[in-house]
Amino acid sequence: MPPADTVFERRRPDDSLVDHALTGVRDACFWIEDVAEPRRFPALAGDRRVDLAVVGGGYSGLWTAVRAKERDPDRSVLLVESRRLGWAASGRNGGFCSASLTHGEENGRRRWPDEMDVLDRLGAENLDGIEQTIADRAMACDFERSGELSVAIEPHQVEWLREDAASGPYRFLDEAEVRAEVNSPTYLAGVVGTDTALVHPVRLVDELARVATELGVEIVEDTHVTGLGSDRNGPVTLRTPTGSVRADRVALGTNAFPALVRRYRSYTVPVYDYAVMTEPLTEEQLGEIGWGSRQGLDDLANHFHYYRLSADNRILFGGYDAVYRFGKRVRADYEHNPEVHRRLVSHLLTTFPQLEGIRVTHRWAGAIDTSTRFCAFYGLAHRGRVAHAAGFTGLGVGATRFAGDVMLDLLDGLDTERTRLEMVRRMPMPFPPEPIAAIGIQTTRWALARADHRQGRRNFWLRSLDRVGLGFDS
Ligand SMILES: Cc1cc2nc3c(=O)[nH]c(=O)nc-3n(C[C@H](O)[C@H](O)[C@H](O)COP(=O)(O)OP(=O)(O)OC[C@H]3O[C@@H](n4cnc5c(N)ncnc54)[C@H](O)[C@@H]3O)c2cc1C
Repeated sequence: MPPADTVFERRRPDDSLVDHALTGVRDACFWIEDVAEPRRFPALAGDRRVDLAVVGGGYSGLWTAVRAKERDPDRSVLLVESRRLGWAASGRNGGFCSASLTHGEENGRRRWPDEMDVLDRLGAENLDGIEQTIADRAMACDFERSGELSVAIEPHQVEWLREDAASGPYRFLDEAEVRAEVNSPTYLAGVVGTDTALVHPVRLVDELARVATELGVEIVEDTHVTGLGSDRNGPVTLRTPTGSVRADRVALGTNAFPALVRRYRSYTVPVYDYAVMTEPLTEEQLGEIGWGSRQGLDDLANHFHYYRLSADNRILFGGYDAVYRFGKRVRADYEHNPEVHRRLVSHLLTTFPQLEGIRVTHRWAGAIDTSTRFCAFYGLAHRGRVAHAAGFTGLGVGATRFAGDVMLDLLDGLDTERTRLEMVRRMPMPFPPEPIAAIGIQTTRWALARADHRQGRRNFWLRSLDRVGLGFDS
């Protein structure tokens, strides 16, 4: 039997509507352009000596620096960023700030069933901690604790949602109820969760930089760390083209970029995720869709979409295709993928046919640091003086703050609830070298797309991955 069409094929809009929507689109990230004058910092000049050096100016690095100062204001902290703060994933994401530390409940329960209740609690505390810091420090980052609505768009997904609703603090919505929330003809059911907030990604970066500097963190941009070195007992040295930093402790938040500790390189691969942003919706367009609770939305397909409203009522629509390129490299030209962006616009118009005639103003992409367990791992190197956290796999807006706390616990040699977690102590399986990595990843993506066309049924390849803990299920 040939595979069935998905709803996006059955209800595909006319090509002319997609062409119209993309007329005049900019190849640029909306969030980055939306902050006209972000804080800028000088490059490193000369040699420095500090207590803690942090490498990476995304959320991982910034939260680590902020948390380090909050824990010990007397510690000197220097954050080193290769280009500019938030230019990479932290400035380009969907802004879904989730409590989940495990890339969703199901992934966590499957891998760490015995500690999932603790992980849920720590994740909720982490999200509350983010909200508290944003309130206490008056961070203007459009933080909205509006929750998340997951929708079924194919009949077989309705049962999955019922199971989700039965397993957690979620509310099931039938077809009429979900469409009363957000009016899409593709929705068959929904589940409402409260453990997600939405943020403006670049404003969050910029405000974290403000808070960090107010706490006494020194930040340098345009300073690429080319290598790490250490003696047996002395400080660790960061080498850069314009000087060096000697530090008692080093935290690495370099995400999808090559790990400075070589042995961690095989634990992540960069996978490109794509997004588009519309012009602001008119009152009339919004009225036709509803979306009064402004939740973050996602659907249940293996190749899933995520979408949300911005503060000025644009729709960010992202996900579906996730593209891996042979060689595990992060490269600017991988962001240019008109076919993938076109598909996103087509799917947006299938989801909301009321938006016929709308323009898409921005399209962009970014690298996700995918790990084989789909959530972060933690390493300690150079005799306990260098900590590394990466592998967030597309759900790091919230989890990076938790990772900062874990890295600081590990560097301070603390025995905490966090450091006792199996999730923190155990490394995931590494990716194999090329060409096996590329073949394996492409086969998996093909099999996942096929499952979406076969009422979710997983083929032998996916079932085998499931058995060894490498299976992906959104
Ligand atoms: C398109 C897209 C959508 C996403 N949507 C979501 C979402 O809605 N919700 C969610 O939770 N997550 C989402 N994510 C994932 C999330 O953005 C990331 O998990 C998170 O931003 C990771 O933060 P980070 O600081 O670890 O990495 P990054 O933001 O990538 O920062 C790493 C920094 O390290 C610097 N660096 C690397 N090597 C060096 C070096 N040698 N010397 C100096 N500096 C160096 C880089 O220049 C970079 O600035 C999305 C990601 C993408 C790409």
